[in-house]
Amino acid sequence: MSLNILFAASAERWADYEAPLRKSLHDAGITEYILSTDLPPDEVDYIVYAPNSDVQDFTPFTRAKAVLNLWAGVEGIVRNDTLTQPLTRMVDDGLERGMVEWVTGHTLRHHLGTDTHVLGQDGTWRHDVPPLAKDRSVTILGLGALGQACAEALVHLGFPVTGWSRSQKSIDGITCLSGDDGLAQALSTAQIVVLLLPDTPQTENVIDAETLAQMPSGAVVINPGRGPLIDDDALLAALDNGHIAHATLDVFRTEPLPPEHPYWAHPKVTVTPHIASETRPDTAAQVIVENIRRGEAGEPLLHLVDRDLGY
Ligand code: NAP
Repeated sequence: MSLNILFAASAERWADYEAPLRKSLHDAGITEYILSTDLPPDEVDYIVYAPNSDVQDFTPFTRAKAVLNLWAGVEGIVRNDTLTQPLTRMVDDGLERGMVEWVTGHTLRHHLGTDTHVLGQDGTWRHDVPPLAKDRSVTILGLGALGQACAEALVHLGFPVTGWSRSQKSIDGITCLSGDDGLAQALSTAQIVVLLLPDTPQTENVIDAETLAQMPSGAVVINPGRGPLIDDDALLAALDNGHIAHATLDVFRTEPLPPEHPYWAHPKVTVTPHIASETRPDTAAQVIVENIRRGEAGEPLLHLVDRDLGY
């Protein structure tokens, strides 16, 4: 029987994804299928999805076996009450490599004091030798697919890395902590804090006045996770009073970040426009098709979202 696969993401992504999806379907030996952006809902077997899609009501998709999200973050769909089908999220090698590069680059920028020399070149011979990575502690909140990959890359460069997650982990070379006490401990030593948590009711404002105060004076905050992880007013206050030296922010409560938002003009804030990492069509198509193959073979789907936990 032919499979009907609906591509339900923004229209411009269809051009990027159609060929990689067809190639991956071919490579998986799936030849009898219709892949389209327009199918009768009650004939759809799988929905390849992005939360900015026009599809917001899943009720008419009566025979759909799974919704396969193209994004790592699922906060835009996980609380959709019309969704009764299994939901998977994106864990993709390209997404992971991109995040490792972005986090490593911004960590090294702050570690090396690059701005002093790149932006402050004024004829002054500033012989400020940065410490070695071994003397700069980094804490990563979130030790999932992306947090763990970034932690391992930073450990490889020599940084002492502490990670914090909901469940207790044990990862070679990384100090793993969990729970409220673990958070306070993870922040107390952090000269650079990287946020790679999902946006859930439990993680909202994890960085607030109280947790900012737990960081050492002069700490740097790097957020490629999600905007709601940070209480923006508390962060701005901590930047203004000098407790936090800098914040590099890729994600915001409102995106695009409005031009009048104080982050844009703040001298201690770097704004990047949600570019830390993106799902890469060639590798992501393989993940999507592997889940379609699994669905058809009756095997467990990869990267299933826990609807109760919200990620
Ligand atoms: P993931 O594999 O689901 O990992 C999430 C991590 O957060 C896990 O370690 C999890 O703990 C931890 N966590 C969740 N809730 C927690 C809580 N209440 N307290 C403590 N730890 C908690 O997700 P991922 O693939 O690494 O992605 C992380 C996030 O990055 C995504 O949700 C998305 O928002 C963001 N992202 C941003 C970009 C960008 O371009 N800026 C791109 C991709 C993704 P457990 O391990 O115990 O479950």
